[in-house]
Amino acid sequence: MPRFAAVRLTHFLPTVLLLAAGWLIARLPALSEFFTSLFNVLPTLLLLLGGALCLVYGRQRELFLLVVIYLGYYLLDTQVDHYRATGKIRDDAALVFHLASLLLPLLYGLYAAWQERTHLAQDLIARGAVLLAVGAVAVGLAQRYPGALLAWVAEVRWPSLHGDWMSLVQLAYPLFALAFILLLVQYLRQPRPLHAAQLLGLLGLLWMLPHVFLLPHGLNVMSSQVMLVLVAAVAHEAYHMAFRDELTGLPGRRALNERLQRLGRNYVIAMADVDHFKRFNDTHGHDVGDQVLRLVASQLRKVRGGGRAYRYGGEEFTLVFSGKTLEECLPHLEAVRQAVENYQLQLRDKGSRPKNDRQGRQRRGAATATSVSVTMSFGVAERQQEQRSPEEVIKAADQALYSAKSAGRNCVRAHGQNRRGAVRVAGAE
Ligand code: GH3
Ligand code: MG
Ligand code: MG
Repeated sequence: MPRFAAVRLTHFLPTVLLLAAGWLIARLPALSEFFTSLFNVLPTLLLLLGGALCLVYGRQRELFLLVVIYLGYYLLDTQVDHYRATGKIRDDAALVFHLASLLLPLLYGLYAAWQERTHLAQDLIARGAVLLAVGAVAVGLAQRYPGALLAWVAEVRWPSLHGDWMSLVQLAYPLFALAFILLLVQYLRQPRPLHAAQLLGLLGLLWMLPHVFLLPHGLNVMSSQVMLVLVAAVAHEAYHMAFRDELTGLPGRRALNERLQRLGRNYVIAMADVDHFKRFNDTHGHDVGDQVLRLVASQLRKVRGGGRAYRYGGEEFTLVFSGKTLEECLPHLEAVRQAVENYQLQLRDKGSRPKNDRQGRQRRGAATATSVSVTMSFGVAERQQEQRSPEEVIKAADQALYSAKSAGRNCVRAHGQNRRGAVRVAGAE
């Protein structure tokens, strides 16, 4: 089922910035010697470094995308170099350029939409075999029947659809459109930074091709940027895998540990735990339990007052408030506690689906959705003389959480709250 809600601008932002930078640089009339040399080696460097990264992370898809772009870049760059050196285009320039315009969207679309499913080695062999087969057919035909092949690829098949703006062979446009639709559907079905990068990378290639001979650095710069976009997306996802909790999307324990190293002198830490969650799981099943954890996380994420939520583990969460005092944070925690308590999750229990039409008709009209809700307990502590390190503050928050549980759950308790209350009472006497 499409998960439109998970579509994020941040999936596209790094790619848009990188491609916009490429577009600007490629349009500059002249590049300094330094940048000219840089962009001359960048595609090769990215193939090697990015390819190694993809291999390490088992990202065969991106590895082959890099290889396809690099092959296209290499073939076209040979033509451009010859043109620059002699002022004339090579005899095979038209055929190579047109074939590249067709094979780039075809192979890019194919590899980008081809999900990694099988065993790593099998996957690599299958992808490699496709590349070899397509390459061998293209080279074989180009060498045996260059004239016929050129006429076939350059033919205007649909004259009524042909526009003056089309600087590529007509057949390239439906191929780009097909690849774009395929990758758009893939992104909408699985909104991930990598799928967004693949989608926009295709547009980068579509822009690059007509500018290969027109802009002095169009080919080097844009193929570098598209490769960079893919490598950056692989790195982005690897970072997410390490620092984000997959179920809730919140930063995980590792991210929390990093954050704890960088806290200033004043901060507050709250530990939050779902009440009677074991019982909830036993009653409604682990799947519904997972759904509830996502819901709880979405409420914790909205905490105000500069707090940041982390999944500590299981059904426990941590909220960190940097540069704040306990008194400042308590109202925000109370607001989150209430938000969790008031949220009603609508369940459509699979087990209660009607088994046949008759049963369905009988049940229609009766409420089929049940709603469930959970509560949470919170323990809070702030950095003080007696608890100086973040680990000590967490321990104190845990003790406060324990007293919140003992006090009947669904409440916020601060560390030392009882003691302080006693002091105040004693002072008033
Ligand atoms: P209390 O109010 O004292 O916190 O009771 P509790 O039942 O919540 O406490 P306990 O720590 O005994 O139970 C935690 C349960 O959380 C046990 C486990 O089944 C469940 N749990 C932990 N992680 C997950 C998860 O990722 N998904 C689901 N569905 N359940 C989880
Ligand atoms: Mg627990
Ligand atoms: Mg619990």
